[in-house]
Amino acid sequence: MAKTFCIANQKGGVGKTTTTVNLAAGLAKIGQRVLMVDLDPQGNATMGSGIDKRQIKLSIYDVLLESASIADARIKSESCGYDVLGANRELAGAEVELVGVERREARLKTALSAVAGEYDFILIDCPPSLSMLTLNGLCCANGVIVPMQCEYFALEGLTDLVNTIKQVHANLNKELQIIGLLRVMFDPRITLQVQVSDQLKAHFGDKVFDTVIPRNVRLAEAPSYGLPGVVFDKISKGAQAYITFATEMVERIQKM
Ligand code: ATP
Ligand code: MG
Repeated sequence: MAKTFCIANQKGGVGKTTTTVNLAAGLAKIGQRVLMVDLDPQGNATMGSGIDKRQIKLSIYDVLLESASIADARIKSESCGYDVLGANRELAGAEVELVGVERREARLKTALSAVAGEYDFILIDCPPSLSMLTLNGLCCANGVIVPMQCEYFALEGLTDLVNTIKQVHANLNKELQIIGLLRVMFDPRITLQVQVSDQLKAHFGDKVFDTVIPRNVRLAEAPSYGLPGVVFDKISKGAQAYITFATEMVERIQKM
């Protein structure tokens, strides 16, 4: 049965999508069966997995509106080695269309339960907000992976995310927990980043992943080729770090 993780942080541009597609590709490389769910109308994780969001016939939008099953809507990304439940602009309308629908926050959970037996990992790329879409992700997850940059304001938004997770835990999903904070775009030459990284470790202890993802231009270049960095240039420092992170995640779920 798959373990499901949301990659979430309501701050924009912190590396959620980069983490989702590279973790998915890293896990696939070490033999894990992965479904990557794009829960962001921007569709970046879809494009970054080599699937053209403008061409997809069925997407997560159809799944949330219960007009398609995940088995029908998923697409195999041959180049990346994992399955994709894609998203595009249409998804932005789902929030409004589901207003008034009962248990609308549980739509994704219901849909995923039908395919959970076919995967080891389900990874959900969340949008940069604490919206109904993110709530759908949090309702079906075993845990949350929070990518963050080691900057002065990094911790500010974390309080809102932690409170949301606590509320979801209390009311909707007893299993939900923060699996860990992932330090991304890290540059050890910047003293402030090293300091913030040390503070994170001191404050959150083993809730901080051991793996640190460096700032690496190959990771930023890869999406324009429709590939995760791990597939685009697997010997690059960024790709290697994500493969190490995939191994760390496999070890973590064995303890869950
Ligand atoms: P959004 O909130 O808009 O969904 P996001 O949190 O998903 O953004 P990404 O799209 O993954 O963030 O990353 C933001 C930008 O930073 C992208 O241009 C991406 O290529 C770049 N980036 C992410 N991680 C790294 C890294 N480790 N090294 C260099 N560039 C990176
Ligand atoms: Mg994103």
